[in-house]
Amino acid sequence: MQIIKFYGDLNIFLSRKNKGKRTVCLPDSRRSIKDAVESLGIPHTEIGKVYLNKREVSPSCVLENGEVVKVYPFACKKAGDLSESSSEDYKFAADIHLGKLCRYLRLFGFDTFYSRELNDKETISLALEENRIILSRDIGLLKVSIVEQGYFVRNTEPRLQAKEVVTRYSLQTRIKPYSRCLDCNGEISQVKDEGVRGNLSAEIRRKYKEFYICRNCKKIYWKGYHSKGLDDIIKSITGN
Ligand SMILES: [Zn+2]
Repeated sequence: MQIIKFYGDLNIFLSRKNKGKRTVCLPDSRRSIKDAVESLGIPHTEIGKVYLNKREVSPSCVLENGEVVKVYPFACKKAGDLSESSSEDYKFAADIHLGKLCRYLRLFGFDTFYSRELNDKETISLALEENRIILSRDIGLLKVSIVEQGYFVRNTEPRLQAKEVVTRYSLQTRIKPYSRCLDCNGEISQVKDEGVRGNLSAEIRRKYKEFYICRNCKKIYWKGYHSKGLDDIIKSITGN
């Protein structure tokens, strides 16, 4: 018999029979630790450090009969530990069901891909090519073997999902409102060109003083474009 012990919240993924258990016994079989853990319902993207007989091993290590394995949750590098260089910033790809979460993340200025036109396979390819973390509530998607970076979003309510992602990656100090387009994920920057304002209603031009434009789709934003509750949303997420 092979014994697998789970730590952190990994046991939330266990199938009904084992739900909530900390230790699961499996009949002896020659397979990788990754395959054994996934067979119990846990996507490999959630697997962190793995110990076999007190020695840290790779999840691809093959289990022998009667072995005991300890599996810890994946602990990502916190954004606060990354350098200030934007090339090190986390980039995300939200799956097709997480459109509202995607808009929150863009609202905070985080590079988040989202498209209703790509299927799962295409989303995975794009994430691999652009080094993006796939955000999903689809465990099957995160179990696809070629997925390298993925995170199962625990909450179902979009604002709580946004808070969850910001907390998990310690992004609180990296929130930059008015830096990314909600529609296309392009970068937006302040615009001084009076001509741009010609496209806006007289009321907007009179009421607002700061305007921004998306460098990609040319959509125009202004301070106050987002609901007045933006500051409150940020506060509720960062606690500041
Ligand atoms: Zn845009």
